[in-house]
Amino acid sequence: MSGILTYALHYEGAFNKNSLGAVSEGAKLAKEIGGDAGVVVVGDPSELTDELCGTLGSYGATKVYRADAPEGLGAPVVDVMAKVIADEGYSYALFGGGLLGFEIGAGLTARLNAGVTMEVTEVHAQGGKLVAKRPILQDSAVVDVDYLGEPGVIIGRLNAFDVRESGDGAAEVVEVDVQLEEHSTRAKMVQRGEQRGADVNIEDADILVAGGRGLGKAEGFEMCETLAAAMGGAVAATRAVVDAGWYPYAAQIGQTGKTVAPKLYLAAGISGAIQHKVGMQGSENIVAINKDPNAPIFEFSDLGIVGDLNKIVPKLAEAVKEKKGG
Ligand SMILES: Cc1cc2nc3c(=O)[nH]c(=O)nc-3n(C[C@H](O)[C@H](O)[C@H](O)COP(=O)(O)OP(=O)(O)OC[C@H]3O[C@@H](n4cnc5c(N)ncnc54)[C@H](O)[C@@H]3O)c2cc1C
Repeated sequence: MSGILTYALHYEGAFNKNSLGAVSEGAKLAKEIGGDAGVVVVGDPSELTDELCGTLGSYGATKVYRADAPEGLGAPVVDVMAKVIADEGYSYALFGGGLLGFEIGAGLTARLNAGVTMEVTEVHAQGGKLVAKRPILQDSAVVDVDYLGEPGVIIGRLNAFDVRESGDGAAEVVEVDVQLEEHSTRAKMVQRGEQRGADVNIEDADILVAGGRGLGKAEGFEMCETLAAAMGGAVAATRAVVDAGWYPYAAQIGQTGKTVAPKLYLAAGISGAIQHKVGMQGSENIVAINKDPNAPIFEFSDLGIVGDLNKIVPKLAEAVKEKKGG
């Protein structure tokens, strides 16, 4: 067995950032342990064109396995990946995290009776095999996990793997003819839902303006939306405000929400609880606005502003708009 197989989710003619991170990481590691950097894609053949599949080559994929199966559901992808691994003998399956990645990874693990590590933040090659690093005990320690047999399944944290354009050529597209398991046809996606705060994919946004209980009320989020719009970013939230019904769950960052790593994470009225921190600590730059100079969020912020967000956030939005020319 050799090589690493990943899965790339596509929507409206593009692969999502999290998937491209997994593809890039799989390609980098495959070069180190040997074998193909394979990627499974499923969906309507009219959408999954040769051109679209071929673009995965620029992230290092050497083979793209294309199957005509429903996209957006876990079970059909498990069927396709299990077949590709059985036919081609991949050593590892690697996922970028996210709900679908967890679902497919867990299903594949059960199907193949494989070893699995979840919430992985780093993977490296050692002696021709992969070792996964996984934080434990609320991120206070990290363990190394290796695999006693193959195939091994590695499920990363959302956006744990960087997207890297390797500049390699177009990948070879291989058609996969798969007979879906009966249970894999028992669910179908009826509609892709949209809700306030979910119209922008917060995992892909470069700039996030996150609001917490310090906003005082649901309407406080209008300030965050104005600032995010001025900066070309999206709005995120803490669990406290989601639980209070001020903002939708789709925007929740943290242990029981999403993990993000934008270029800028601007936290307004957020205390910085550990359960929130684990979802945003990978951000390149963290800016916090809080009226309490002892708020824990200042301990891991690059820039801290002590003051009343009701005065600072609107002024910041005005300043950004002015700088951008209105
Ligand atoms: C099992 C478990 C899972 C959890 N999962 C998550 C999770 O996924 N995500 C998450 O976020 N939390 C999670 N939590 C909750 C977490 O512990 C915190 O309660 C929560 O993050 C606090 O949210 P907050 O910062 O909005 O509110 P608070 O902790 O109440 O902080 C509000 C902050 O606003 C500041 N403030 C108030 N008024 C102003 C003002 N006018 N101007 C400036 N600053 C002001 C205050 O000084 C304070 O620091 C979880 C908890 C548990 C037990």
